[in-house]
Amino acid sequence: MKLNADILSLKYMGSKKAEVLNETGIFTIADLLEHYPRRYLDRSTISYTTDLQKDMQATVVGKVTGTQMRRGRRRAYFEMVVADERGFLKCRWFNGAKWIQKRFKKGDLVAVSGKVDFFGGFQMVHPDFDLLSEDGSNPINTGIVVPLYPSGQKLQSAGLDSRGFRRLMKPLIESLNGKIQEFLPQAILEGQKLIGLEQAFRNIHFPENLDELKQARRRMKFNELFFMQLLLAIRRQGKEETVKANRYTGYGDYLTSQYGKLPFELTDAQKRVMGEIWDDLRSSHPMNRLLQGDVGSGKTVISLLSAAIAAGNGYQSAIMAPTEILAEQHFKNAVRFFEGTPLRVTLLTGSQTAAQKRELYKAIREGYYHVIIGTHALIQGKVKFEKLQLVVIDEQHRFGVLQRGELLEKAGEADVLVMTATPIPRTLSMTIYGDLAVSIIDELPAGRQKILTRKVDVHTLPKVYDFIRDELKVGRQAFVVYPLIEESEKIDLEAATQGFEKLAVHFKGYKTALLHGRMKSEEKDGIMQAFSRNEIQVLVSTTVIEVGIDIPNATIMLIENAERFGLAQLHQLRGRIGRGEHRGVCVLVHRKPNEDSLDRLNIMVETRDGFKIAEEDLRIRGAGDIFGTRQSGLPALKIANILYDGDILKQARQTAFDLAKADPHLRKSDHKNIRAVILDKYAELSTLAGIG
Ligand code: ADP
Ligand code: MG
Repeated sequence: MKLNADILSLKYMGSKKAEVLNETGIFTIADLLEHYPRRYLDRSTISYTTDLQKDMQATVVGKVTGTQMRRGRRRAYFEMVVADERGFLKCRWFNGAKWIQKRFKKGDLVAVSGKVDFFGGFQMVHPDFDLLSEDGSNPINTGIVVPLYPSGQKLQSAGLDSRGFRRLMKPLIESLNGKIQEFLPQAILEGQKLIGLEQAFRNIHFPENLDELKQARRRMKFNELFFMQLLLAIRRQGKEETVKANRYTGYGDYLTSQYGKLPFELTDAQKRVMGEIWDDLRSSHPMNRLLQGDVGSGKTVISLLSAAIAAGNGYQSAIMAPTEILAEQHFKNAVRFFEGTPLRVTLLTGSQTAAQKRELYKAIREGYYHVIIGTHALIQGKVKFEKLQLVVIDEQHRFGVLQRGELLEKAGEADVLVMTATPIPRTLSMTIYGDLAVSIIDELPAGRQKILTRKVDVHTLPKVYDFIRDELKVGRQAFVVYPLIEESEKIDLEAATQGFEKLAVHFKGYKTALLHGRMKSEEKDGIMQAFSRNEIQVLVSTTVIEVGIDIPNATIMLIENAERFGLAQLHQLRGRIGRGEHRGVCVLVHRKPNEDSLDRLNIMVETRDGFKIAEEDLRIRGAGDIFGTRQSGLPALKIANILYDGDILKQARQTAFDLAKADPHLRKSDHKNIRAVILDKYAELSTLAGIG
C-alpha cells in the first residue's frame, strides 16, 4: 500500500463513496488518513440525563426509544426520545425533519450534543448527532474512546457519517502495520518526546484512552507546525547567506548629535531596540527585522535614529508609510529631526505632478537626498537610488503580507525594518512574520496621560456632547468617528455625513470638518493639517484616521456604533488620543449591541494593553479572518491552531530553525525523508523557500 495511492485502490472503497470523498478534497490514502476526527466521546465528556441543567452544553449517549412526527403550532416537527440508564431526553427537529426522520430507528445507540432546554422536561433542539455501534452494546461503557468524524449532508447520504468513516478507517488503520515512513530523525523524536508517525495515525483515529489520544494529537500538530516553520527557517537561512556589499563602519556623525537634540530620552525598551538594530546593521548580512510596538510607543524616532546611522555611513534611507497623511507626518518629523545637519530630506507621494516626480527621481538617483519618505510611490519601478541601504516600512499590516514580499524583493541587499502597531500575540507573529527577527517596544514613554474609556448607550449622547463642549472651551480638540459612509448600509447607521451636519450645528462657534475615504488626498491632507494646527476643533470622520496620526492636543475620541468595529481597530482609534499632556477620554457609543459586542466593548473599557486586546480579538474573530492564511503564503493548518497550540509551536519552531541552521539544504541522509515530504506535500511553497 502506497500512501499517495488513489483511495479507489482500497479494497473496500466503492466508486460512489470515492467520488463524494474526492469532492471534499480527499483523493489519496494519505488524505484519508488526515481526515482526523473532529471530536471524541468517552465517559468523561458524556453527561447522564439526570445531570442535565437548563442552558448547559452537553452530550448524551443513549438508545432511541421512540421516534415520531408531531404536529406543531405552525408546522410538523420530528421528535425522538433518547434514554440512557438513568432517564431520558427529548430531541426535536423543526428544520429538515423529513430527512432527519430517516436517520434513526428505534434501538439505535446515538450520541446527541447541544444546548439543553427545559420544556416540561429536558430537551435539545437540533442537536448534533452521531450513530454509535449497531450491535446494541455501548462502547462508552467499556471505556472506549469513540472518534466522531467531520461530515456533511453529501458525505452522509453516501453513507459517510461518523459511523461510516469509522468503518472505513478501521481496516485502513489495521493494515498500516509498518507501512508509514517516519520522517523525523530519531534524535528529534526523542528530544521532543514525540511518538512515531504510524502510532500517531493509529491513535488519533482509534485511541485506547485519552492519554494515547493526547500524544497522537500532539505529534500531528507538531508535524504541521514543524513544516511551516521549516519553510520559514530555510527562507531566512537563505537571506542570512547573503552578504552585504555596503558595510557600516560606526555610528557616523549624526546619531549622537541628533539624539542629543531630542526633547526626551529614549525609554529602556527603545534603547534595547536600537541596540538590536545596530547589531543587525553592522553585521555582514542584511537586516530583516520586525519592530512591534503598541500605538504611541515611539517607533518613529527609532526609524529616524536608524536613518541617521545610515546617513552617517554614506547611505540613503527610504521610509515608507501606507497613506499620504502619514508620509507627510513622517516627513515633517524627519525634517525637524535632521535640522542642523547637512542632510537633505524629501517627500515622494502619488499626488505629485509628473514634472515634480521626474525632478525628484533624478535627485534621488544622484544621491542629492539622504532620507526619502513616501507612500508606495517610493517603490515604483522608476525610482532608483544612488546608495540605498536602509528601508523602513511603517504600519506594515496596511500593506498586506504579500506586498511585503514584493518590497523585500526590491530592497535586495538593503537592511529592512518593518514597523507595526498591530500588537499580535507572539505565536501569531511567529507565523506571519516567522522569517523576520522580532524586536518589541513593550513600554510607553513615561508621563503618558490616562485615557478614560466609557461605553455608553445612545441615549446618553446629549450628556457626552455637553462634556465635549466643556473640553473645547478649554482649548482641546475632538475626533468623532463613524463606521461607514455607504448608502446601502444606512439602514440603522448614522452615516458620517449626517453626523457631521448634526454636529456642526451642535458645536456652533467651533469649526467642524468632515473627512472620509472618498475625498481626494489633497483635500484630506488639507483638513488633517488644519486640524493639527487647531484651526478645526471637531473632526468628524470615517476610519481613515485610524493609523499613526499624532495630534497631542486632541483629547476626545467619540466612536459611534462602536459595536461595529473590531477590537484592534478600536484600539488603534483610541491610540489617537492621550498623546500629549492632557488626559484623554474615549467614548464608545453603542446602539443595538448583543451580548458578544458588549463583551468586546468591556474589554476596551478594562484594558489599554494592546496585546491583551489583540488576543481577545483573535479569539473572537479567528486568526484566519484577520490575516488570511492563504495570503501569508504558508501551509494551511488542519489540526494545529496557532492561538491555542503556542507551546507546540515554540518547540516546532526551535526544532525547525536548528535543523535549517545545521543543514540548510536538507542534504544529510538523516533529513532525506523530510526533504521528500517538502517536495511532495509543500512543492509550491518550497520554491519560495529555496529548496528543490
Ligand atoms: P508610534 O509608535 O505609535 O508610531 P510615535 O512614534 O508616533 O508612536 O510616538 C508617539 C509620540 O511619542 C510622539 O509625539 C513622539 O515624539 C513621542 N515619543 C517617542 N518616544 C518618546 C520618549 N522616549 N519619551 C517621550 N516621548 C516620546
Ligand atoms: Mg507610528
